[in-house]
Amino acid sequence: MDLSVKPGDDFYTYASGTWIKNNPVPAKETRWGSFNLLRDFNISAVKTILAESAAKTNAPAGSVEKRVGDFYAAAMDSAAIDKLGYTPIKADLERISAITDLNGVLHEVAFLRTSGAGSPMFGFYVGQDRKDVENMVPQLSQGGTTLPDRDYYLKNDARTLRIQEAYKNYITTLFTLTGAPQATAQKNAETIFGMEQKLAEAQMARVEMRDPYKTYNKFAIADLNKQTPNLNWSQLMQKMKVTGQDTILVNNPAFFKTLDGQLTSTPVADWKTYLQWNVLKSAAPYLSSDFVDANFAFSQVLSGQKVQTPRWQRMSSLTDGTIGELLGQLYVQKHFKPEAKARMDEMIENLIKAYEIRINNLDWMSAETKEKALAKLHAFTPKVGYPTKWKTYDGLAISRNNFFQNVRNAGQWGYNDMISQLGKPVDRTKWGMTPPTVNAYYSPVMNEIVFPAGILQFPFFDPKADDAVNYGGIGAVIGHEISHGFDDSGSQYDKDGTLRNWWTAEDRAKFQEKAKTLQEQYDTYTVLDSIHVNGKLTLGENIGDLGGLSAAYEAFKMTKQGKSKKKIDGFTPDQRFFLSWAQVWRGNILPETAAQMILTDTHSPGQYRTIGAPVNMDAWYKAFNVKPGDKLYKKPEDRIRIW
Ligand SMILES: [Zn+2]
Repeated sequence: MDLSVKPGDDFYTYASGTWIKNNPVPAKETRWGSFNLLRDFNISAVKTILAESAAKTNAPAGSVEKRVGDFYAAAMDSAAIDKLGYTPIKADLERISAITDLNGVLHEVAFLRTSGAGSPMFGFYVGQDRKDVENMVPQLSQGGTTLPDRDYYLKNDARTLRIQEAYKNYITTLFTLTGAPQATAQKNAETIFGMEQKLAEAQMARVEMRDPYKTYNKFAIADLNKQTPNLNWSQLMQKMKVTGQDTILVNNPAFFKTLDGQLTSTPVADWKTYLQWNVLKSAAPYLSSDFVDANFAFSQVLSGQKVQTPRWQRMSSLTDGTIGELLGQLYVQKHFKPEAKARMDEMIENLIKAYEIRINNLDWMSAETKEKALAKLHAFTPKVGYPTKWKTYDGLAISRNNFFQNVRNAGQWGYNDMISQLGKPVDRTKWGMTPPTVNAYYSPVMNEIVFPAGILQFPFFDPKADDAVNYGGIGAVIGHEISHGFDDSGSQYDKDGTLRNWWTAEDRAKFQEKAKTLQEQYDTYTVLDSIHVNGKLTLGENIGDLGGLSAAYEAFKMTKQGKSKKKIDGFTPDQRFFLSWAQVWRGNILPETAAQMILTDTHSPGQYRTIGAPVNMDAWYKAFNVKPGDKLYKKPEDRIRIW
């Protein structure tokens, strides 16, 4: 803490100032704070498990330990990987070179996708139809670009131009590493950038993409063929192993029209270059060190990171990201305690209770809409720790001496696993995050809140800590995820997860008006002196924080400590609650990363998450004696209450 600062002037520095000063971002990181410390702890725990598994060379064939250990051992064998250079992708590049026409281009688009080698031109996945949630359907999304946001292709300020230059250099380097002459590689870079720039122009901005109605466009495949004849979806879907489907969901039809036009206006030779680039960029992190280093050098320009994270850390993360539900089985045996689950179940129950009280007490919502909101609240499915049914990765071949093939096999296995869900009942046991993940999520179509084992640790959760600390930490996280069901986007889904209006028009208008004031509050926040937080992009997360912290406080007040005034270490229970919240969000960030996240991250920066919700809560003013004249002071009538 920094007690020289008044909490009402700068609550962030008051709660975390000394820590912030003493904990700069380490050279191998882009941000450093509570989340990162726990992630660092978890990845070390994962590494220990992986190294131990890899050392047990006598583990039975097909056992979890054997498969996980082999994957990691192969990933860490950098000598063998270096020896191969780019040979693992040589056949891909040659095959693409031999393409002669547009049909060949599209055949390759399908092949790369189904073999886990890349995802050129557009995004594709199988997921629940949000207007008919018991159905798994094929879904197309805008894509085809490489830089983290369309803005990087379209803006021309100094920072953007520097990133565009670095991107072109990166493309050039990777092509030269496969033997292309410098001049050819440079020409390829210009070609690829130009093609991606056209795709970026046709993409919707992130703010528009948050609209679940605008991005819901159902097409009979035959009709989509008429709109985009060059893409010929009937054929392409078959090549992508999608069978027995008449319809498809498209998030941005205009994007696909542009892509369709581009298919014939761009020479086949350029599409071949583009496809080779897709193979190269997907493979680079798994090839020899010259590729890996070029990949890191480019990422540095975007993130500002000083040195590369050690290989063990990258490969531990990769193992988690690739076969996470094998690794996860070993992780939870060691790091997840049944008493943590019991305590979490109890806290979730208390948060739901608190939310129910708050909905009943809302002064702006009609009884009619309240009834629907409560029905939705009571239909939430909580998931804690790890899946009840593990993915087995049956049929996925993992070899101890072929790292690149392991990654490809896993990509292909993942694609087939996704496709296999078509025509089957929705699997409600599935998880969207792996057990060691330090995060949580809400799924609107499942109407579920999910908390992986990884986040159920200090500083979010500590079974030995007082309730103030736990409710200000994981309690607020639980409240945040519940609130996603009631944010500007999530609140458009009903209790069954269906995108269907359950609001009266008048209540919806009042909700939107309140949301707009919150948007305006966050619009005023800046990073790096002049870059503004995007209140529209971050609205859902900010509603999540405001509703979540308010509900967590309500639940905390039901506990014994919440009702007492007994100080611990000189702080009242209420002060400890808000300090716990604040210290979860403390952290340092590199300026380059901060600038990128303002464009791409739907969450507000930690320093503003710290204050954004409390400045709207009467309890915070009382706890820290915040008075008119203090910099963070808001008049009682200006404090925003949504949930
Ligand atoms: Zn969130």
